[in-house]
Amino acid sequence: MNYELVIGLETHVELSTESKIFCSCGGHSSPKEPNDCVCPACSGMPGMLPVMNKRVVELAVTAGLMLNCDINKYTTFDKKNYYYPDLPCAYQITQINNPICVNGCVTLKTSQGSRDIRIKQIHMEEDAGKLVHSGKSSFVDFNRTSVPLIEIVTQPDFRSAEEVVTYLNKLKSMFRSGGISECEEGAMRCDVNISVRPEGSEEFGVRTEIKNMSSFEAIERAIRYEAQRHMDALEFETEELVQETRRFDDVSGKTFAMRNKETEADYRYFPDANLMPIIIDDEWLEQIKASKPEAVDEKAEAYREAGISDKEIDMLIGNHQLSKLLDDTVAMGCNPKDTAAWILTDCAGILRKDGKSINELTVTAEKLSAIIKMVDSGKINRNAGKKVLIAVVEDDVDPVAYCKEKGLDRKIDLSTVESTIDKVIGENSQAVEDYKNGKLKAMQALFGACMKELRGAGDPAVIKEILENKMKNL
Ligand code: ADP
Ligand code: MG
Ligand code: ZN
Repeated sequence: MNYELVIGLETHVELSTESKIFCSCGGHSSPKEPNDCVCPACSGMPGMLPVMNKRVVELAVTAGLMLNCDINKYTTFDKKNYYYPDLPCAYQITQINNPICVNGCVTLKTSQGSRDIRIKQIHMEEDAGKLVHSGKSSFVDFNRTSVPLIEIVTQPDFRSAEEVVTYLNKLKSMFRSGGISECEEGAMRCDVNISVRPEGSEEFGVRTEIKNMSSFEAIERAIRYEAQRHMDALEFETEELVQETRRFDDVSGKTFAMRNKETEADYRYFPDANLMPIIIDDEWLEQIKASKPEAVDEKAEAYREAGISDKEIDMLIGNHQLSKLLDDTVAMGCNPKDTAAWILTDCAGILRKDGKSINELTVTAEKLSAIIKMVDSGKINRNAGKKVLIAVVEDDVDPVAYCKEKGLDRKIDLSTVESTIDKVIGENSQAVEDYKNGKLKAMQALFGACMKELRGAGDPAVIKEILENKMKNL
């Protein structure tokens, strides 16, 4: 039986504010030593009261606008109660009843075409601290306590790991260009909800949730593993699937059960009476809209001006890693349009052949620009360039050394090309005769023989031109 994969994401993003969400301690990028940025409020001293950071609201609204959400003009905070040493108040301030943004949508461009992912809601909340384990002791670092987060919750609309990674890359590039978050490793963390169902079925299967993932590469691996586990369970009854929370182990590449999923009741949510409702009036909303950066659009425009096609632009804008590779390679002196083709056509093709997605591309701008420059300067032809690219994409070889080793960089002068063509014409009298008798196909055979003789050296277009001239003048 064929199964369909169903995924919904809850993504936590640390906001780039100067201070924490409910006190004046330095925000996400401030701390140096453990517990540098801590005050009585964010370390949970009794009697301290939270004071809302206005900037958090503005960044959350900006994120909502970028994701085509409705903005709730009346938004409130709730307490989520649980006990853990990294949570000094024994509750987290979050939003459950009136989240700030709802009903959004983001369009992804993937190799399967265009896909809409619905955003259920975005809410604001505070982060927890960090436990640091050392020998038999554990320590707690409150620097991260009360750092502002937004959590973006999607509907279960993803159908593949590729879509998930495309979405995360899109969020990352939007949030960076919008000044919402730098989204560096660890500042963007996902809970991945997965289920499978028989193809064509409308009903959802039992879901499991893989908690707290921050590397996109690990997310992709975790999804593949977990989907297979679900399918095996349904197909071969290897185990019974239960709704639960799991963790992904990077070393074994497997997921392990952590606990049965908590229900809402387990957290005894109730409104936080210490914080007033926030009213976002039209004037404030207009101000936020006006200051919303258009950086993503500007970038698309710059790519368009450089001659990159709309289809390629869609792939680049949705994918921070690819657009950075392009930008860095261009900064090293390569032509933007060519470079886009090398990345989105050639690299993607090589990966596809190996059963991988473009998101798994690990080529550096240094290596890519080295290949492009060897081709542009005529040191090797484009076919040879592709051969080098395959070796770089698959085995991360050094492109220049690889060319030398494989003899691809043979400098070839025109007289060698000419004498080789003469030799081929001399040795293939039948093909030459056929060509003279009007069999134009024979030219292709002669050209192939020349290319073979030259072993990939020389520019194919030039070789073809010389060959055709010689044949016409025979
Ligand atoms: P809960 O309140 O139990 O956390 P939510 O309705 O908030 O549940 O959903 C949490 C996440 O799980 C959302 O991103 C949602 O899209 C996703 N999700 C819900 N049902 C499924 C399912 N059957 N398969 C995959 N993901 C799901
Ligand atoms: Mg939830
Ligand atoms: Zn503080």
